[in-house]
Amino acid sequence: MAHKITVDGNTAVAKVAFACTEVAAIYPITPSSPMAETCDQFATLGRKNIWGTTPTIVEMESEGGAAGAVHGSVTTGSLTTTFTASQGLLLMIPNMYKIAGELSPAVFHVSARSLACQGLCIFGDQGDVMACRQTGFAILASNSVQEAQDLALVAHGATLDARVPFLHFFDGFRTSHEVQKIDEIDDETIRQMINEEAVADFRRRALDPEHPTMRGTAQNPDMNFQGRESCQKYYEAAPAVVQASMDKLAALTGRSYHLFDYVGAPDAERVVVAMGSGCETLHETVEALVAAGEKVGLVKVRLYRPFAADAFVAALPKTVKTVTVLDRTKEPGAVGDPLYLDVCAAVAQGVQAGTAAFAQPRILGGRYGLGSKDFTPQMCKAVYDNMSAAKPVDHFAVGIVDDVTGRYLLGDERFEIPTGARKECMFWGIGADGTVGANKNSIKIIGTYTDNYAQGYFEYDSKKSGGVTVSHLRFGPDVIRSPYFCHKADFTACHCFNYLEKYDVLAAAKPGSTFLLASPYSAAEVWAHMPDEVEQTIIDKKLRFYVVDAAKIARANGMGTRTNTVLQTAFFKLSGILPEAEAIKELKAYAEKSYAMKGMDVVEKNWKCIDAAVAAIEEVHYPSQPAGAFKKPPTVAAEAPAFVKDVTAKMIAQKGNDLPVSAIPADGTWPTATTQWEKRNVAAFVPEWDPAVCIQCGNCSAICPHAAIRLKVYGKDALAGAPADFKSADTKTPKMKGLGEKMTVQCAPEDCMGCTLCVVKCPMSQPKKDPATGELKANPKPALKMVPQLSVREKEIKNWDFFLKLP
Ligand code: SF4
Ligand code: SF4
Repeated sequence: MAHKITVDGNTAVAKVAFACTEVAAIYPITPSSPMAETCDQFATLGRKNIWGTTPTIVEMESEGGAAGAVHGSVTTGSLTTTFTASQGLLLMIPNMYKIAGELSPAVFHVSARSLACQGLCIFGDQGDVMACRQTGFAILASNSVQEAQDLALVAHGATLDARVPFLHFFDGFRTSHEVQKIDEIDDETIRQMINEEAVADFRRRALDPEHPTMRGTAQNPDMNFQGRESCQKYYEAAPAVVQASMDKLAALTGRSYHLFDYVGAPDAERVVVAMGSGCETLHETVEALVAAGEKVGLVKVRLYRPFAADAFVAALPKTVKTVTVLDRTKEPGAVGDPLYLDVCAAVAQGVQAGTAAFAQPRILGGRYGLGSKDFTPQMCKAVYDNMSAAKPVDHFAVGIVDDVTGRYLLGDERFEIPTGARKECMFWGIGADGTVGANKNSIKIIGTYTDNYAQGYFEYDSKKSGGVTVSHLRFGPDVIRSPYFCHKADFTACHCFNYLEKYDVLAAAKPGSTFLLASPYSAAEVWAHMPDEVEQTIIDKKLRFYVVDAAKIARANGMGTRTNTVLQTAFFKLSGILPEAEAIKELKAYAEKSYAMKGMDVVEKNWKCIDAAVAAIEEVHYPSQPAGAFKKPPTVAAEAPAFVKDVTAKMIAQKGNDLPVSAIPADGTWPTATTQWEKRNVAAFVPEWDPAVCIQCGNCSAICPHAAIRLKVYGKDALAGAPADFKSADTKTPKMKGLGEKMTVQCAPEDCMGCTLCVVKCPMSQPKKDPATGELKANPKPALKMVPQLSVREKEIKNWDFFLKLP
């Protein structure tokens, strides 16, 4: 039986690539960087490829340089690889033409990412890959973490036999960063997949002064055309080479792939054609629809270039009447998007030549999932339903409201995929608070120590540190396809108490499910401190509600603001996925693995947090009515500009998916100064100023990365009308005296991120040496000290508003 590992797509690909590579020229770009980093790490540790040598990993100055280095390396007969995405891949295009034109085997692994057009988007779609379809590279698509590992190996094997370089891609983030439990490919299988005779042939073709030949000549009109055509036989042979490599893999592993894989009813009349992770969602939708008696099917495109038209036509059922081609890219101004055009041409050729077993079907085109837009079974169902409509929408977008063209489909929200005994869990965290890292460990523990299949996906925006993160974990006895967000959570955790006022964190919670809240309030107190809307949802859904003061435990055990270990422990205790003792043992082992590099004292602090967390979880026995303490505040202030209210506020509230196309400026021109309206309110603790101790150096204001603590010097008359709690001091430094007689250091409690940098850099807040023991102890009277945000928020908001009006 194959060895199972729980791993993300980038790592799965990097392991195979490393084993098949002698030289990797790298340059980092999101979301491909972990592949290069993993190979670099393996090389540093002295790991070997299948030929027993450690690959040379060379970081270049840009992706253009990396592709140039690949070109040079393959020319010398070295098995060479690179990893990239998006604009990085575009920078490689000139060299890709050269590598392909010289029929040099090589593999580029690409975690496909959106291209910067109207705005920069680091998330996934296939715009970058589609820009390379004319370079002469074979293009192989993987749809899941398992496939990314398997087809990475097919690419490394087939490139040697075909003499065509390969671009192997999978969806950025959705596959590159998704953690899945998969069957691992071992080195012996990799060895058997590589044709040593083809390796020897490749080396014999290398430029070598012992057998001199020349490449890269200049060509004139008399023969350049013929030269371009001379490669054709290799491209015509390549599909068969790829299929042979896939068949070899099937014989070795039992996992079978084809150039085009069909799933669905044998007598399907409505068929979707797609490539990438969306195929997994379509696959499970087709299974559910076929089980309900619908005649639907799906063709998964695996080898996109060379496009084997005959094999594609043969993959369609002879009963097909309507085809919808889904592209994960947009080619503005084209007759249709790239895959659509290939399918139209292939079907027309097959029908004209009489090789198709069906009459010309109607072919529709649609776009989905740009910039990692979630692609759900409900959307897939809408695509199949559209094919049955009397007047189907053509050239549509799915999953967004395109009120500009009117050509769009929305998901059928009533449709559900049966998920059996599978569990879904969602964790709301703050970027860089450790929630995502902890959940990666959690899903690996579940995948490794239980018989369950496991999947982890981590949703975050490009703010990364300090932004909102939502971790989506699934586990259960059956294989998990489902490359989309959880939307029926058995377990919901909110790692930031203030999120209750901002986001609908319980929208996906199932009735009767568990809700864990990181709360500064005990079970007895918390009901008086939550918005009514959240409490009503808890009552209506009959949630099992628990609180834990994660911040207090983390602080007490020297972990500062890092609450992730406490909350991860609470998840294992409440979910019961592992027996408690075993869960604690594995959590401690993972803490050691994760933090050993930082020292055993850090590991031990984590262990203490784990022990303390188990004892600190409290169930909340809530009443049948909300406390009536307060309602959720509006996302932005009433005086915000219209654009901020209509557009920015929706994005801030995590409802940007609901924005229609007409709401977005078509040329990407955006109003400025909109961030002032976003009150993040994520800091559990904020700095409080003591004017009597402050020496007015300004360090705090200068260091704050969010401009959330500021200093003003002003005349004393300006204090007229100040709130009762407003603090000020007489100016002390000679320079300030010239500017005014009063000064204030003021924190914006809703903008502060609680990072403590201002305290760390304040000369009057440094720890003091205990004269008796010489030990450093907390300063008993600092100029700045961190205090619970909730205890000062209301008054400090008023103070901040007044401060802003000071001259
Ligand atoms: S803790 Fe201090 S430095 Fe950090 S965001 Fe808040 S005010 Fe700025
Ligand atoms: S609070 Fe500290 S860092 Fe800020 S001005 Fe005063 S002494 Fe300087």
